[in-house]
Amino acid sequence: MKTLIQASTLNALMLGNFDETVSVRDFLHHADTGIGTYAGLDGEAIFEDGVAYKATADGRVAVMKPEDGVAFGTVMNFDESVTEFELNGISDISALKDALEPYVSGNENVFYMIKAQGLFKTMHVRSCFASKKPYPTLSQVAQNQREFHFENTRGSVIAVYCPKYVNGINLPGWHFHYLSGDKTQGGHILGLSAESLRVKLNKIERFDLTLPQNPEFAHRDLCEDLTAKTAAVEGVKK
Ligand SMILES: [Zn+2]
Repeated sequence: MKTLIQASTLNALMLGNFDETVSVRDFLHHADTGIGTYAGLDGEAIFEDGVAYKATADGRVAVMKPEDGVAFGTVMNFDESVTEFELNGISDISALKDALEPYVSGNENVFYMIKAQGLFKTMHVRSCFASKKPYPTLSQVAQNQREFHFENTRGSVIAVYCPKYVNGINLPGWHFHYLSGDKTQGGHILGLSAESLRVKLNKIERFDLTLPQNPEFAHRDLCEDLTAKTAAVEGVKK
C-alpha cells in the first residue's frame, strides 16, 4: 500500500501559516516525488527523483538543501514500475483532467499521484515571492504572483489528486506542478497543452499528515470555508 505524506493543511497555508512544518530532509526521508511550497511561501516546490526543486517568482529553478524548510506539500515514494499509458490531444488543463477521469473514476475516494512526461506546446505557470512575518494570507500573496508562458518545453508534470472529503486539508481534485527536463523552468500550472503525454499513475490508500508545530497554528480557527478563495488562488476552473 502506498502512502501520501503531507506537511501542514491547505487552510493553514491559505491563512498565512508559512513557517516550516518539516525540513526537506525529513520530508523526503520516505519519499521522492511530489509538490508543495517552502517556508515563507518562497516559490513552488517540485520533488522529483528525491531532489527538492524550487521554481522561484523571478523565473529560476533552484535545488533546495536538506536543512531548508517545507511549509506545505504532499510527497510519496513514487512507483515507477507501473504500466505507462499515453494521453493524446491535450488542448488545455480541463482536457487533461477529463483524460485522467477514467483512471480515477473507479475510486474517487483515494489519493493519486501522476508523473506526465512529454513535449508541452504551451505551459503556463505561476510562482510567488517569499513573504516575511507577519505573513499575509495566500490570497494577498497571489496578487503579486508572477506568471510565465513557456512554449515547446519538455519536462514532467507532477500532480496530486485528492478526494473531495479532504477539503480544507488539501485541494480536492487535481493540483499540477511542472518541472522542465533541463531543470530551468517550473511552477504551479495554470494552463498547458500537449500533443501526447506519457503518464504513470500511482493509487494511494494511506495518508500521513504532519501538522505545523508553531503557536499560530495552535490558535488559528481552521474551520472557515475557504473553498472559493482556494479555487481562486489555485486557478481551479472545474
Ligand atoms: Zn501549487
